[in-house]
Amino acid sequence: MSEMIWFNGEVLPLAEARIGVEDRGFQFADGVYEVIRFYNGRTFTLSEHLDRLTRSCEGIRLAMPLKKQELMREIGKFIEKSPVREGMIYLQITRGPAPRNHIFAPSRPTVLFYARPLPPVAPAGTAEGLKLISQNDERWQRCWIKSIALLPNVLAKNAAVSAGCDEAVFVEKGIVTECSASNFFAVAGGKVLTHPVGPKVLPGITRLVLMDLCKQLDVPFVERAISEAECLAADEVFITSTTREIGWVARWNDRQIGNGSCGVITRKIHGAYQKLVTERTQ
Ligand code: PMP
Repeated sequence: MSEMIWFNGEVLPLAEARIGVEDRGFQFADGVYEVIRFYNGRTFTLSEHLDRLTRSCEGIRLAMPLKKQELMREIGKFIEKSPVREGMIYLQITRGPAPRNHIFAPSRPTVLFYARPLPPVAPAGTAEGLKLISQNDERWQRCWIKSIALLPNVLAKNAAVSAGCDEAVFVEKGIVTECSASNFFAVAGGKVLTHPVGPKVLPGITRLVLMDLCKQLDVPFVERAISEAECLAADEVFITSTTREIGWVARWNDRQIGNGSCGVITRKIHGAYQKLVTERTQ
């Protein structure tokens, strides 16, 4: 069965969907997106993702073309028909086609989403540790918008992979913000530390779930600016995203983090996260 796409209200084979040359997403990266995980054919934190999508749309002065409830229904129907059971929905909204001009003109937004399979995430603490490398944070001051303009992230990620690493950590004036496609956390003195969301940090949905889990597990969760030096000396470091859940970090800039194995707090939080996923989707 060919891969399908929901494209402006119609479901058709992905290979047949066509975007015009003057779509503002193509010419100006004038759009926003979401990545939503589903397990066992059931979405996880869909409502939270669509709330963030609404905020992203507001952030670029684009009216949400569909109501949240409608979008939830369409995504649900799409997954039901999809052969993919474990995977993600990639959803994108652009301002749509209009004669090329920086100034907004009335246009019909382009809305699309499709499913991609993902391998299951290894049980907490059993995956191989990740390797990180620092990169200068050259992004704009509105990183809370999940914008499709991702070139600084793309370049940073590729620099990381070229250096034999898994992910790039953005550092701005000695302060760690987040990673190219994930949020960043250090564990020191039994506390989870992370940069506040806002100009330089996306409000990650996995981060949001984790905040709540930390409360339940009685693990202090501290949002503040943390220096790269402080993070490099932390007991544990981990990163989070919808697709990878919680990934523990073994090495960063060629230094070992902690004792080189998955830390107890990271394992505990990831275990609780996976339990929640199972409760909600199995
Ligand atoms: N920061 C950035 C820059 C990202 O691209 C992502 C992944 N979408 C995240 C953080 C993590 O967000 P979430 O947990 O919602 O996937």
